[in-house]
Amino acid sequence: MRTHARVAVIGGGALGASLLYHLALRGWTDTVLLEKDDLTSGSTWHAAGLCTQFNASLNVTRLLMRGVELFRDLEAGPHGPIDFRAVGSVRLATVPARLDQYRDARGLARITGLPLEIIGPDEIGRLVPLLSLEGVLGGAWTPTDGYVDPSRATLAMADAATGLGAGIERHTTVTALRELPSGEWDVVTDRGTLRAGIVVNAAGIWGRDVGRLAGVDLPIVPMEHQYLVTDAVPELAADHPEMPVVRDTEASFYVREEAGGLLVGPYEPNPKPWAVSGIPRDFGRQLLPSDFDQVSGVLELATRRIPALAGVGMKQLLNGPTSYTPDGNALMGWVPGRRNLFVLSGFSYGIVQSGGAGLNAAAWVVDGEPVDNLWELDVRRFGPDAADLDYVVPRARETYEREYAIPFPFEELQAARPRKTDPLYDLLAARGAVFGARNGWERPLWFVPDGGPRGDEPTYRRPAWLPYQIAECRAIRERAGLLDMSSFAKYEVSGPGAADGLDRLCANRLPAVGRVALTPMLSPRGGIESDLTITRLAPDRFYVVTAAATQARDLDWIERHLPADGSVTLEDVTADWGVLMLAGPRARDILGALTDADLSTAAFPFMAARDIVVGPVPVRALRVTYTGELGWELHHPIEWSRTLYGLLLDAGAGAGIADVGYRALDSLRLEKGYRLWGSDIGPQDSPLEAGLDRFVAFDKGDFIGREPLLRQRAEGVDRRLACLTIELADDDDLFPRGGEPVFSGESLAGYLRAAHPGHAVGRTIGLAYLSDTTSASGTVLEVEILGERRPASVVAAPLYDSEGGRMRV
Ligand SMILES: Cc1cc2nc3c(=O)[nH]c(=O)nc-3n(C[C@H](O)[C@H](O)[C@H](O)COP(=O)(O)OP(=O)(O)OC[C@H]3O[C@@H](n4cnc5c(N)ncnc54)[C@H](O)[C@@H]3O)c2cc1C
Repeated sequence: MRTHARVAVIGGGALGASLLYHLALRGWTDTVLLEKDDLTSGSTWHAAGLCTQFNASLNVTRLLMRGVELFRDLEAGPHGPIDFRAVGSVRLATVPARLDQYRDARGLARITGLPLEIIGPDEIGRLVPLLSLEGVLGGAWTPTDGYVDPSRATLAMADAATGLGAGIERHTTVTALRELPSGEWDVVTDRGTLRAGIVVNAAGIWGRDVGRLAGVDLPIVPMEHQYLVTDAVPELAADHPEMPVVRDTEASFYVREEAGGLLVGPYEPNPKPWAVSGIPRDFGRQLLPSDFDQVSGVLELATRRIPALAGVGMKQLLNGPTSYTPDGNALMGWVPGRRNLFVLSGFSYGIVQSGGAGLNAAAWVVDGEPVDNLWELDVRRFGPDAADLDYVVPRARETYEREYAIPFPFEELQAARPRKTDPLYDLLAARGAVFGARNGWERPLWFVPDGGPRGDEPTYRRPAWLPYQIAECRAIRERAGLLDMSSFAKYEVSGPGAADGLDRLCANRLPAVGRVALTPMLSPRGGIESDLTITRLAPDRFYVVTAAATQARDLDWIERHLPADGSVTLEDVTADWGVLMLAGPRARDILGALTDADLSTAAFPFMAARDIVVGPVPVRALRVTYTGELGWELHHPIEWSRTLYGLLLDAGAGAGIADVGYRALDSLRLEKGYRLWGSDIGPQDSPLEAGLDRFVAFDKGDFIGREPLLRQRAEGVDRRLACLTIELADDDDLFPRGGEPVFSGESLAGYLRAAHPGHAVGRTIGLAYLSDTTSASGTVLEVEILGERRPASVVAAPLYDSEGGRMRV
C-alpha cells in the first residue's frame, strides 16, 4: 500500500470515484482512493440509477445537469458504455398547485437551459401507454433525463481516473484519522498508515462514522429506501420505444422499465431511519431486510396508476440504506474546525449528482473555490448542533417523506421545532407571531392580530399573509416597529492582531471606535464570500454581526483567515446577546423616553454605536436598521430581553408601535435596494457587479480579493445588479419572489435574484443581474412568472427615500 498521497479519498462509491476522476482531470494524480470493500459497495451498487435534472433550486439544477452531461460523455467515451439511457421523464400533476410548481420549474429551466415542457394528459398517454390517466391534469416532461447503471458509471469514472495516474486501494478500511501539526493527516488503515495532505470523507452513509474518526459530528442519517422489481410485464413484451421514467408525485413513487418488467420506488410516509448511532462494523455490500408493509400503501396507489402492475409477480423488493441530512441536500466543503479535511457525503440522490459534485469538489480542493454556487450543499449551512440525533433524525424523516411534496415558496417545515428559542418566544407567540426557523432559531415572520387566520397556507401565488406584512411595513414607515432579531450570529474578535487580521479580510475600511461599518469579505476570486456589520468597541476589539443562516460559514471563513499566531481571539457570542430592532419615525421618541442617553444625531449619528442604559437594561445600541428608517439595533445581554421588550412596547403604545416579523424586511429592504447575501449577492458576484462599490476601499491597502477586483474595475464589468419594477394588475395573483426569467424581446436577459412588493412605493420590485445595455434605466423588459409574462422596467434605485434622509434624521 502507498504511504504518501497529496489527497486521500475515503469511499469508492459514485462520489469518491467522481472526485478522483475530476482531480485527475485537473492534473492532481498524486491521489489515492481507499475503499474498505470493493468499489460501489455502499449505496451505489443498488441504486435505481435515475438521473433527474428537475429541482426547485437553480444551483442544484445546474449540478444535476452537469451529472447528466458527464454520463452522456462517459457513455460514448473509451470507458463506456455505462448504460445511460436518456429516456426522458414525466412528472404527473393531479392537483392544480402541482401545475404551478411545474410552471415555476419551467421558468428555472429557461434560465439553466434545461429542456422542460408542460404537457397535457393526451401527450402523457402517448408517451406512457401503461398509465391510467385518471385525475391527471398534465405533467412536466424533461426529455434529457434518464437513468444509468450506477456501478458501471462509477467504475468508468474510477478507470478514467486510474488511467490518468490516480491510485485506488480496495479492501482497505480506514480505522483512524490523525491530524498532524503540519496540517497533514495520518490515515490509519487495516493495511498500514498513509500520510495525506488532504483527506476527503466520501463515505456515503458511513460519512458520519468517518467524520467521528476526525473528531467531527456530521448531520447524516442513513434511511431505508426500497424499490420493487416486477416480473416481466406482458404489456411491455412487444417491441416498443422504452417508456420515460414516470413520477406520480401525489402518490409519491417513481417507476421505470427494468428488464421487461417495472421498477417501482415509493417514498412512503413514516420512513425508517437505520443505524442512526453508528453502522454495524461488519455491514458491507449488503441489503436490509425488505419490508412490504412499509410500502404497501404507496404500491397500491402505484397499481391504480399502472393497472398492468396488478397481474404481475414481484421479483424483488430491494431495501438499501441511503443518506439523508436535515434538509435533504448533501454535505460538501472544508469541514469547519479542521484543516485539510473535506467532506463529500450525505447524498440522497448521489448517482445523478456525482458528476457535478465531483467536478465542483475538485475545483474547491484545487482552486479553493467551487465552480458553481453550492450554498445549498455547503457543510457550513449547519452549525455543530445540527448533528444532534433529536434534530437530524426527525428532519431527515420529514425530508424523505416530502421527497415529492410540492416545495412551496416561503413554506416552513415543521420537524424538530421549536429548537432554539430566545426569551421572547412565548411572549411573541401569545401576541400572534407566526414563526419560521433559520439555523434552528425560531423567528417571528409576521403577527396575526386578534386571532385572525394564520395566513400560512402554502401557495405559489399571492400569499394570505400579505395583509399582515403590509400593516407591519406601514407601522415601520409611518410610526415604529419592533422586531426580535436575536437569531443574528455574533462574534467578538479581539487582541493585538485583531485590527490587522480583520482588515485583510474586509473589503471596506474598518470603523473607528464607536462606529459601525458594513463590509463584504471577498473570496480570492473577488466574489462576495460574506456580508457583515462590524462595530469597533475598542482599538483592538470588534463586534461582528451576520445573518443567522451563515453563522457557521462566516465564523469558519474568519477563523481560517485570521493569523494563527495567538494574537487574535475569535469568539462566537451569538447565544449571549439578544437583539431588538426598533425602527420608524417615532423610534427616537420611544427610546428617548426610556434612557438618559442623548439620541440626537449630533450625539448619536447614523452608523454609530453607543453603550446606553434603557430602563435598567445595559444596551449596546447600533444606529443601523435594514429598513431605511430612523432606528436602532438594541443588542443586550439576552437575559434582559423580556424586560427590554416590555419597556419598549409600553413606551411605544402611544406612538402606535407594532410587533413586526421578518417578512416585512423582505419588502422594506428592496424598497431601499439593500442587498441580501445568498439571494442577490454571493461568491459568484463581485461587489462591483452588485453595485456595492462604496463598500470597497481600494485605497486602504491589501485585502483578500483586491487584485481581481482591481482588474475588474480596470476592464469594466459586463453585468450589473439592476432594479426593476414589475407591472402587475391589482387583481393579479402572480407573486414573483426571485428565480423568474427576465426577457428582452425573446432573448433571455437574466433572472430575478429577488422580488417582492414594495408597499410604500406601491410597486413590485425585482433585482436582476443584467448586461450593460439592458441594465440602463428605462429599459423595458418582461418577467415570466408561472409562465405568464409581465412588463418590467429598469429603474433608478433605491425607490424609497433615495437621498437616505429618513434614516439619518
Ligand atoms: C434503494 C436506493 C435507490 C436509489 N436510487 C437512486 C437513484 O435512482 N438516483 C440517484 O441519484 N441516487 C439513488 N440512490 C442514492 C444513491 O445510491 C447514493 O446517493 C449514492 O450511491 C451515494 O454514493 P456515495 O459515493 O456517496 O456513497 P456510497 O456508495 O455508499 O460509497 C461510500 C463508500 O465508502 C466506503 N467506506 C465506508 N467507510 C469506509 C472506511 N472506513 N474506509 C474505507 N472505505 C469506507 C463504503 O464501503 C462505500 O463503498 C438510491 C439509494 C437507494 C438506497
